[in-house]
Amino acid sequence: MTRIEIPDDSLYGHANLPYGVFSTPGTSPRVGVRVADTVVDLTAVDPVFAAPSLNPFMAQGHSRWVEVREQILDLVAGEIPDAAVHPVDAVTMHMPFEVADYVDFYASEHHASNLGRLFRPGSEPLMPNWKHLPVGYHGRAGTVVPSGTGIVRPTGQRKGEDSPTFGESRRLDIEAEVGFVVGTPSPLGTPVGADDFDERVFGVVLVNDWSARDIQAWEYVPLGPFLGKSFATSISPWVVPLLALEAARVATPPQDPEPLPYLREKNPWGLDLSLEITWNGQVVSRPPYREMYWSPAQMLAHMTVNGASSRTGDLFASGTVSGPEKDQRGAFIELTWGGKEPVTVNGEPRTFLEDGDEVTITATAPGPSGTRIGFGEVTGRILPAH
Ligand code: MN
Repeated sequence: MTRIEIPDDSLYGHANLPYGVFSTPGTSPRVGVRVADTVVDLTAVDPVFAAPSLNPFMAQGHSRWVEVREQILDLVAGEIPDAAVHPVDAVTMHMPFEVADYVDFYASEHHASNLGRLFRPGSEPLMPNWKHLPVGYHGRAGTVVPSGTGIVRPTGQRKGEDSPTFGESRRLDIEAEVGFVVGTPSPLGTPVGADDFDERVFGVVLVNDWSARDIQAWEYVPLGPFLGKSFATSISPWVVPLLALEAARVATPPQDPEPLPYLREKNPWGLDLSLEITWNGQVVSRPPYREMYWSPAQMLAHMTVNGASSRTGDLFASGTVSGPEKDQRGAFIELTWGGKEPVTVNGEPRTFLEDGDEVTITATAPGPSGTRIGFGEVTGRILPAH
């Protein structure tokens, strides 16, 4: 039997307990929970965790999530059979859930304003609809990949002098985002209210929405992002339960004008997540999630207000997290102002991603009693175009 020692400064103490899907050599992927630097196999807690995905458990609903979290807390606070405890360095992490639909929002006013200035110089940075609804688009669920997956540089059409050119993207970028995972489905024809978020949403992951800016700039009018985004979206392997984020809730920035009634929450809340972006090992930005204009609950309410159903495994991401300061910008196009103001990475001036570059996004949030909650990381390396 093993008792897991948790250092005081661990980001994976009893207040966190994030879920992931792991395997060890010669075994099938199954659900585990991270505690300190170990992964605890949960198949003994409930057979639902023998699945290679969190979807069956997430589909059981909010009251089960609460119940099972208590059971897990009891388990990991006591003596655990040796065979159920694995060092985190000795396991392979997989996709934590099957992505049903994937939606990406655009919820940071700082990011939307900066992109407006870069893509549409000389006009109002925010479109007239921006402060009335959380703008979003439907992404490609099938190309959401787990952290560590190599990202092949995409090829496509780019704007040319007189006519478009075809070739590999020269302006490959990142978007540091936070993703929300739907647990309990909602039926077709039934909107999810802004105060029903906790019943529906299971947890949170980190997202890197890889973006080919040259492909995007040529294709995006009038229907929004398409091939400039759909080649890959990376997520972190640990799903931090919403139940672990009570102490991380903060008020959202003031909203003016007041949004329409379906977007009003009784107690509007955002999340005090501190993100960090490293580029080839060097920290280049620290985006604050608490600055986000639209709240997670407003995004879900808007996504379903037309009666669209939501399914277990739906992923909706916040859009790039950018704060007001330059070193808080969550995309390189903003950080380098369209490539005109390079940042220094390991002594070299850099703008967009080169083959072999590696980008890692991490985050922490306040936990109870001065502790911190860790989200793990989402990382990816750029591979040459095919
Ligand atoms: Mn995005």
